[in-house]
Amino acid sequence: MRAAVLKAYGEPLEIEDVPNPDPEPHGVVVETEACGICRSDWHAWQGHGEWADDQVPLGQILGHEPAGTVVSVGEQVRGIEQGDRIAVPFNLGRGHCEFCQNGHGNVCENGISLGFETNAPGAFAEQVHVPYADYNAVHLPENVSSVEMAGLGCRFVTAYHALAHRADLTPGDWVAVHGCGGVGLSAVHVADALGANVVAVDLDDDKFDTATELGADETVSAESPDVPAEIRNRVGEGGAHVSIDALGIAETCRNSIDCLRKRGQHVQLGLTTDAERGEVSLPTDAMTMREITFLGSRGMPQSRYGELLRMLDRDALSPGKLVTKTVSLADVPDRLDAMSDFRTSGIEVVEFSH
Ligand SMILES: [Zn+2]
Ligand SMILES: [Zn+2]
Repeated sequence: MRAAVLKAYGEPLEIEDVPNPDPEPHGVVVETEACGICRSDWHAWQGHGEWADDQVPLGQILGHEPAGTVVSVGEQVRGIEQGDRIAVPFNLGRGHCEFCQNGHGNVCENGISLGFETNAPGAFAEQVHVPYADYNAVHLPENVSSVEMAGLGCRFVTAYHALAHRADLTPGDWVAVHGCGGVGLSAVHVADALGANVVAVDLDDDKFDTATELGADETVSAESPDVPAEIRNRVGEGGAHVSIDALGIAETCRNSIDCLRKRGQHVQLGLTTDAERGEVSLPTDAMTMREITFLGSRGMPQSRYGELLRMLDRDALSPGKLVTKTVSLADVPDRLDAMSDFRTSGIEVVEFSH
């Protein structure tokens, strides 16, 4: 099968022929129909993460947002059959530890990151293996296409988990979203669907049309001399209730915390770059005095996909609106390169023709 392989950090991924995967006893193999291209792929391609012992090994097949049809099934798998259409979270659990058993498989003790580690080759490939498939695979409703589902993950589900499960969000609250890339625009749309008011922040004015269409009530340029003050001005009453750093640079993280009202909640979604190496300086005294909460949020537990799919079914959420482009596997190296200077907008999805 053909796959996009990471050969050297920052050099174009190579499209190569590699052996088809065989299912482990607990796994299934999926014929990939669609897979989203994500900033996490870009980070992996750049070789980021060695500061957190999280650098993706060379030789890795990237791609972690797949949807497709099951073509072979391991002997221990009970709930999935050949021909089933499934999506796969990137944050795979094994299903056995305390976290998995309590519905937090996204932070499994022995979790596996699809497309980021040697034992879990990714889905920029014609076929992808899904480990512990009974625990991890998400059955797709008939009316959700593979491209739409690939557009959901991981950015949309990450935004959903952050706002629906991690933050204590009430309809009518103000949510600030810093960074209007894929996860940021997803957060704008999800916050709006959950009844919140939204202020979207980005450097690039071009992204504001999409943000507004997806539900942003206010937009603030990241070039404003004092972004947090500008946000507090727009939303009034001391600032936002919930604020999301959807980018992961020191400035957006700090702005996100500084734009909150007392007792506000910051949710960190973006992972940092070479400049921060995983650490950002924060105003801890002010956060303490103002009772500010800092929340980390990673992907979404497998067990919570049902509620999201029901919202799709009722058209309360339309992730398809975020899919701006479908491309072929051969285009992946170029589309990752386009992320280096933020030349992409919305979510791009690889569509496979079999
Ligand atoms: Zn686990
Ligand atoms: Zn992703």
